[in-house]
Amino acid sequence: MNKQEISPPVVMVVGGMDPSGGAGLCADIQTLAAMGCHAAPVVTALTIQDTTAVEKFQLLEADLIQAQMQAVLNDMSISAVKTGMLGNSAIVSVIASVLKGRPDIPLIVDPVISSNKNDRLSEDSLTYSINQLLLPIASLISPNIPEAALLAGKEASAPVDADECAALLYSPDSRCECMITGTHAETSAVINRYYRQGSMLRQWVWPRLQFEYHGSGCTLASAIAAGIAQGLDMEQALDHAQRFVINSLQSGFKPGHGQHLPNRMYALPELSSED
Ligand code: PLP
Repeated sequence: MNKQEISPPVVMVVGGMDPSGGAGLCADIQTLAAMGCHAAPVVTALTIQDTTAVEKFQLLEADLIQAQMQAVLNDMSISAVKTGMLGNSAIVSVIASVLKGRPDIPLIVDPVISSNKNDRLSEDSLTYSINQLLLPIASLISPNIPEAALLAGKEASAPVDADECAALLYSPDSRCECMITGTHAETSAVINRYYRQGSMLRQWVWPRLQFEYHGSGCTLASAIAAGIAQGLDMEQALDHAQRFVINSLQSGFKPGHGQHLPNRMYALPELSSED
């Protein structure tokens, strides 16, 4: 077989379109391409937003989302699936029913409920359907601390303890592991914690960067899916993905009036006028 015939691992990414190109499917496609995978993007929603705020969003009908997934699953060998913005419980339900029939495909769930500016990206609470339908079939869920608290059913005003949330999210019927990211915590460093069966296995401590970034959660979850699709085990994939994210953020840029965007193509050589 010549080089052109060898397909890179294919990762299905299920999420929303962000016209700023910072978050959602654009973030997923760039991350996967940069990490040597091919992205198969399934659209759940169009969002109207820029780097400052989300104005509104329009979800697709659940049967159209199911049909997009089925078309690709029937045609290609998929090495991992990553979900992001799903938008409502009917959409979570069809995605879960399609993926339930494919337990061979690792599923990474980024539980997107709001943007990191706290603008809503879902019509209903989503926590019940994510907990009941996606966690039992997922390999990993990657909430930030506020998302972990919501999924664990904690009161919004209560102090949040990542270990307690991870223990509440664990169910003995599920193989789902958990990575709770510390970007939204009020600590001077960012501490990301990895849990299996509700107990912490490892934590990573990263410097807190100066700016706010749009699309960092999407980038992380896609980078984890890329690592799994490339054959890494979960701990290696988490390690590799965090290094990819920190490099992308450190070489990020500010194309608009709001948040910075990660530069997921940081490793590409720069074009010079002699090229
Ligand atoms: N998916 C879409 C379509 C979005 O618009 C956003 C945020 O605006 C997200 C996901 C989550 O983005 P982040 O990675 O910044 O949490």
